[in-house]
Amino acid sequence: MQILKRRITTLLLVLFGILGATPAAMAIDGTVEDIRIGQHPDKIRFVMDLSRPLDFKVFSLANPYRVVIDLPEVTFSRDAHPESRRPKAIKGFRFGLFRPGTSRVVIDTSQPYSIAAAFSLPAKGKQSPRIVLDLKPTTRAAFLTESAKSVAAAQAARRPILTAPKPAAPPLLTRPQRRANEKVLVAIDAGHGGVDPGAIGVSGVYEKQIVLNAARILKSELERTGRYKVVLTRDRDVFLRLRERIAIARRAEADLFVSLHADSIPNRKLRGASIYTLSEKASDKEANQLAENENKSDIIAGMDFGTETPEVTSILIDLAQRETMNHSARFAGMLVREMRGEVKLLKTAHRFAGFAVLKAPDIPSVLVELGFLSNNHDEKLLRSNAHLKRVAGALRRSIDNYFDHVQSAARAN
Ligand SMILES: [Zn+2]
Repeated sequence: MQILKRRITTLLLVLFGILGATPAAMAIDGTVEDIRIGQHPDKIRFVMDLSRPLDFKVFSLANPYRVVIDLPEVTFSRDAHPESRRPKAIKGFRFGLFRPGTSRVVIDTSQPYSIAAAFSLPAKGKQSPRIVLDLKPTTRAAFLTESAKSVAAAQAARRPILTAPKPAAPPLLTRPQRRANEKVLVAIDAGHGGVDPGAIGVSGVYEKQIVLNAARILKSELERTGRYKVVLTRDRDVFLRLRERIAIARRAEADLFVSLHADSIPNRKLRGASIYTLSEKASDKEANQLAENENKSDIIAGMDFGTETPEVTSILIDLAQRETMNHSARFAGMLVREMRGEVKLLKTAHRFAGFAVLKAPDIPSVLVELGFLSNNHDEKLLRSNAHLKRVAGALRRSIDNYFDHVQSAARAN
């Protein structure tokens, strides 16, 4: 009986998967035309003007304090940027695609706020339909109780997820060796995306846009050789969890994982690219700070970690990871050699830190910081396709060198 039940559930999931794959499920449901945030004596009022009435869910999260609003997939109009008009208590907010079918707005507050009211108003005269949120200051203890309740309610209200169960990632250490005539598979990971913009450049450009462009250029540079197949972890402006980026590469049975970033630091004079590989011990303070920033991506997107199961670790993974880390470091060295002379590099170009996205136990992985969006000169270069093509050329040559080495070592064995 138990087995039969499980079979029926699986069948239903598969059916939902087929239904969910129809183009209708991908449609955009409306537009957020404007966002207004007002400070009132006793509350902060957050208003979204919509092109049509939309369902929404709202919940709050602690550490740091955030209010999250989930909507169907929408576009955000250019006017929805009240950055200059927001009250002090709102530290910042961002919005974008959270996953296909769901757009998200995340509001950061400087102290705990209670969601005192959340309602929609229909169109009236010239006024478009609206979603209104009233936030009132509260204590941390009251916030935590309310937050837990609001997350549970949002989860209960979640519509059935219309996607097929994902195929499991291949088990560790059983990856068949590629045959000589088989193409090498490279996973390219454009950092950030959707509700997580990444760093913001001096001209206002978002890191998520720069790195997606760089990923596409690198993909065509690699495919042109006929030697590589390329999988992009994302090919649109959508948020992806850090562990999902690794899972995509593992499901594709990638031979190499390259994560692309372009970050920002307070020192606006600093410029140059650098290459990171995984290490529990960071090579310096800056590397550690950078890894901390990058690892916050899931928090920035308003992820709730309350229902997470702890990561399974074992000695087997440890061993595989150590071997993988050696390969990663070898590739990073080759990449530094190819990039030197082509683009400006930091003085210590190969650095180490605990980046979560580099933790695939069985795929050599590097993270490339293409330059600093906080530096005028670097930012201008990163906005130019000609520059990104030069970088892609250096990456392609080092990937050639790396797999020449790997394949000749395999032949010698
Ligand atoms: Zn980044």
